[in-house]
Amino acid sequence: MAHALKPDLPVFRQGKIPVPELKPLDAILPGEPILLMGAGPVPIPHAVARANGVVINHMGETMEQVVRELKRMVRYAFQTQADKVMGVGGPASAAMEMAVANLLWRGRKCLCLKTGTFSNRLGEMAKGVGADVTFVEPETGKPVTAEMVRRAFASGKYDVVTLVQGETSCGVLNAELPEIARTAQEHGALTIVDAVVTLSTMPCEMDRWGLDAVITGGQKGLSSIPGVSLVAFSDRAWEAIRSRPEPPAHWCLDAVRAQRFWGEHQYHYTAPVPGVLALYEALRLVCEEGLESRHQRHRVSSESLQAGLESMGLKLFVAPEHRLNSVVAVKMPPDVSSKDVLSYMSRKFHVEISGSFGLDVVRIGQMGEQCRSHNLFKVLYATGMSFRHFGVKLDVSAGLAALERALTREQEFE
Ligand SMILES: *Cc1c(COP(=O)(O)O)cnc(C)c1O
Repeated sequence: MAHALKPDLPVFRQGKIPVPELKPLDAILPGEPILLMGAGPVPIPHAVARANGVVINHMGETMEQVVRELKRMVRYAFQTQADKVMGVGGPASAAMEMAVANLLWRGRKCLCLKTGTFSNRLGEMAKGVGADVTFVEPETGKPVTAEMVRRAFASGKYDVVTLVQGETSCGVLNAELPEIARTAQEHGALTIVDAVVTLSTMPCEMDRWGLDAVITGGQKGLSSIPGVSLVAFSDRAWEAIRSRPEPPAHWCLDAVRAQRFWGEHQYHYTAPVPGVLALYEALRLVCEEGLESRHQRHRVSSESLQAGLESMGLKLFVAPEHRLNSVVAVKMPPDVSSKDVLSYMSRKFHVEISGSFGLDVVRIGQMGEQCRSHNLFKVLYATGMSFRHFGVKLDVSAGLAALERALTREQEFE
């Protein structure tokens, strides 16, 4: 009897599973909300939170109208006239995977520009779908340059180039993105661009720069909730998807199937309705503010915070010319554990910032609602006082004064 059930398998050791001892959620959540000043998720505006509490029929006419209006706002935020813009039920990584899995397959060649954790993730995903992946990797803390990409194309042929605009893991900006995209296009390659932290926090112009697949998440630059992401495909990218030798192995992330919902309002899978509504409100606020003012707010906020951190005596990880404003990486002073500092900051000040993936830094987010003056003073004070608690000599008042001076140089910063 090859398939005889073995009584010693753990599942047979006990009878019924008892009801677990219950704790109401309030007993777990902090009594006072914690200010999220890390690398995401970020605080959400009230309108976004309210929308996130609503469920409507995902196939009804109301939803159809929501999707139609949402796509118009997405096109503005991405600066594109592309027809194929869609939401993805899942984290930003799912949107990354959707771009990768639809544009790459076995036999395709991918040039992965690797500046840290997230750009490397695109490369891993490309390998996962069987593409032949070549990595270009500058020194840690440095961006990838158009020259590096030209050199790669001089000695190889690639179907797709993947990169991040802003590398959240170390705080580096790939400022040469437009030139990199042009180089890729000259060599007949498509570009997949991760704009998770940069979209709406700094210029990212899909059409003008000739980007082919641009992705973003909800919980970073857009100040919405995690779990619903966005991707836009250029006409060139869509042609490549339509001419695939076979459909992608992913069913949920098949762009052609997804387009049935986002383009024709036919059923694909049940759309994450509350998250889509939340994104609607987040995008409406982006449109109301206007991209230029929003970029300006982020730049002033981040530069002022950076001035505050440095005036206090902390050192920033990335050189000013390569620095991403949307996430600021702060070098850990010697002999202090970032884990201790972060945990103290959370308990004592109800402010959280992020650790890192292996680098000796902590990271402060400057995305969406994080870029408000009340949040800046709070995070700067909490950071300074927490480091000081662990023996780091810092002039916290000098930092706060520098923040105040930098912010008030620009009028009407809120
Ligand atoms: C946060 C982040 C991601 C991943 O987002 P998830 O929602 O965690 O999947 C990808 N790329 C960048 C640049 C990010 O900052």
